[in-house]
Amino acid sequence: MIRIRFKGSSRNWDLSTAHGSPRWVRRLCAAAAPQVKLARPGLVDRRGLATYLEAMAADQQDPLFIGSEIFRKPPHGPRHPLAIARVCATMDLCRALGWLPDTAYRDSPRADTAALTRFHDADYVAALQQAERTGQVSAADRERFNLGAMEAPIYPAMFMRPATAAGGSLHAADLLVAAVAAGQGRRIYSPAGGTHHGRPARASGFCYFNDPVLAILRLLDGGIERICYLDYDAHHGDGVEDAFAHDPRVLTLSIHEQGRWPGTGMTAGWSRTAAVNLPVPPGFHDDELAFIVAEAVIPICTAFAPQIVVIQCGADALADDPLSKLNLSNGALWQAVAHNIALAPCALILGGGGYNPWSVSRCWTGIWATLCGHAIPQQLPPAGRAVLADLTWSRAAGRNPPRHWFDTLADKPNRGLVRPQIRAAVEAVRHLPQSWRSKQ
Ligand SMILES: [Zn+2]
Repeated sequence: MIRIRFKGSSRNWDLSTAHGSPRWVRRLCAAAAPQVKLARPGLVDRRGLATYLEAMAADQQDPLFIGSEIFRKPPHGPRHPLAIARVCATMDLCRALGWLPDTAYRDSPRADTAALTRFHDADYVAALQQAERTGQVSAADRERFNLGAMEAPIYPAMFMRPATAAGGSLHAADLLVAAVAAGQGRRIYSPAGGTHHGRPARASGFCYFNDPVLAILRLLDGGIERICYLDYDAHHGDGVEDAFAHDPRVLTLSIHEQGRWPGTGMTAGWSRTAAVNLPVPPGFHDDELAFIVAEAVIPICTAFAPQIVVIQCGADALADDPLSKLNLSNGALWQAVAHNIALAPCALILGGGGYNPWSVSRCWTGIWATLCGHAIPQQLPPAGRAVLADLTWSRAAGRNPPRHWFDTLADKPNRGLVRPQIRAAVEAVRHLPQSWRSKQ
């Protein structure tokens, strides 16, 4: 249900019972702006309505896309899961669809040592820079920093590339601090970000730096006091959860496959300040994600009342991804993002995992469309198909990819009954807002 209330009036308008068309709703809101005020944002059936109303209420600036050409070259050897086009394929597909004018795009700056050492150890940053320069790491650094193995291989831009991803998320954080100070709403998309496993002095799970942590620290340093971090990657957002485990200003919530690497986040609920985990079984599908978002994510975040939401949109929970056994369609993730960005006037939307070049670029392009309010076409135009036709994938599934990876943006929905295990996980976290209130 969603209600709006006009300033100077005690009457609530319940839009969920209004039988008007979307045009009727638009007319109503246009007439009301800027006095339109949300009584209860987020819980709507009609996709995008909450986003639209929130934008009307918060004086939204247009969304911004932060990218970089540095991501065009695959970073690792051909056998590495990340040796695929992701960020630049997303940029190319957005441009092919006419959705990414120059005015909406910002080239990512590179984070410098001073910015990186806000979270990472100086020795670790120096070791990465040296490994980039020399192309090798000492046995001691290999052991100490987990560098050089498949998880974090040595490659020519192994400092510059992750430092650019971190720089994009940090730049976004600076812009969001300014937006909050100005009383404005803003959504910023940094699909190269989302490296949620990085540790202060250790590479982990393909992540050298932890850009979500760096960005959240920058937001806190800028005076932001309540931040929700929502993680939809197939893997537990362990690095972010641990970084803010004892900081009541940051709520972390991670939905991920149970039993999957790194093996943490298996307990629903929280044991420390504000860390919520919802481990889900293999086969996790669209209706189950929608259930979790409606019954857990929205009420918990609404109670936390964030000024900014940070959303990690790893695409490895999608059915076509090779590294998980989850079964989401990309539309389920777009819907979750549409609901989540309505939880606060400002949002930082990041990428994350995702190891099938077609499903990652289609998914992340659709997330940008969600932020901008673009309608998803039934079939891609020739320019969009050409971008997807240029992608390659060395895995067996890449030799004979199905037609819909080239022709469409939206996957077919993966529907099903909500299993008891999902209901139990939600039940275990339902009490959290009351617990927080009783602690205050
Ligand atoms: Zn992942």
